Amino acid sequence: MVLLHLPKLPSTILTPLSTSPIFLRTHFLNPNPNPTKTPRPLLLFSTLTLPASEPTPLDPHTPEPTPHLQLPLHKLFVPPETHVPLDTPTLTARILKGSNILLSNYATDSQVAQAEFIKSSVRTEDCPSDGLPEFALVGRSNVGKSSLLNSLVRRKKLALTSKKPGKTQCINHFRINDSWYLVDLPGYGYASAPQELRMDWEKFTKDYFLNRSTLVSVFLLIDASIPAKQIDLEYASWLGQNQIPMTIIFTKCDKRKKKKNGGKRPEENVNDFQELIHGFFETAPPWIMTSSVTNQGRDEILLHMAQLRNYWLKH
Ligand code: GDP
Repeated sequence: MVLLHLPKLPSTILTPLSTSPIFLRTHFLNPNPNPTKTPRPLLLFSTLTLPASEPTPLDPHTPEPTPHLQLPLHKLFVPPETHVPLDTPTLTARILKGSNILLSNYATDSQVAQAEFIKSSVRTEDCPSDGLPEFALVGRSNVGKSSLLNSLVRRKKLALTSKKPGKTQCINHFRINDSWYLVDLPGYGYASAPQELRMDWEKFTKDYFLNRSTLVSVFLLIDASIPAKQIDLEYASWLGQNQIPMTIIFTKCDKRKKKKNGGKRPEENVNDFQELIHGFFETAPPWIMTSSVTNQGRDEILLHMAQLRNYWLKH
């Protein structure tokens, strides 16, 4: 994917890692809680077309506020054809909450109105052939892939379809809004899976990544509540080496108990993972912190998918 060069700016900016939905509302939508009052003008987005996104409901599970993290500019993901604001406050406001991703003018029409299971395929050539753009979700078993899929489409059990007997090792296509696909790929890293099955899985998912022409980006799910696993690093490395566009989705970011989770908080594990994969990529891949318990990151993922998809459709 082509990335734009960043102009000279202060060497660091603050990126909000807060899980508070209020942050999303005040930064990405026109905050007008009382419709009888005159709407407040959008101050932060004079150059940006805002998506018609639903506000995230306040959630009783929202944990303590997370501190702002200093993010060096070279670690930002700047989508193609994106205007980079020259002043730091505007730039900060344009970064998707809990991510390193700058919003572009392509980030429109992000919400899911309709989702339906279409088919399970065992080979890339059997996948739908209607040419619609797609995003593939992949991750270690138990990383929270089904929970994330259900959260994205706001349906409690849609992902169960992929867990039915015979489908766990398939490429499962879900059509969204009749215009794009979410693709559920088999989880990897089952300790108990026989070697033969693991080899098979590797062969067909790698074939899918390399040959599926409508694949806009792989969404690699990484559990942020535990330290990085070797198999995840190997996976990220393979995608980097093969120049497959990739977004990292850090899951379970609500799990904040240090003791229970190997001594580190999610944002520390997120930072460590960046450091470990740094050498695999020419430019920093996009990443987003999420939780299927609090729905943190859901709107951000959808906006990011919308901007990648809309750009892909125009080129
Ligand atoms: P999959 O095997 O990758 O599809 O993982 P699942 O979605 O089935 O989730 C595995 C386990 O992790 C389940 O017990 C979920 O309830 C739990 N889980 C998934 N996402 C989250 C999350 O964001 N936060 C927390 N705390 N638990 C989660």
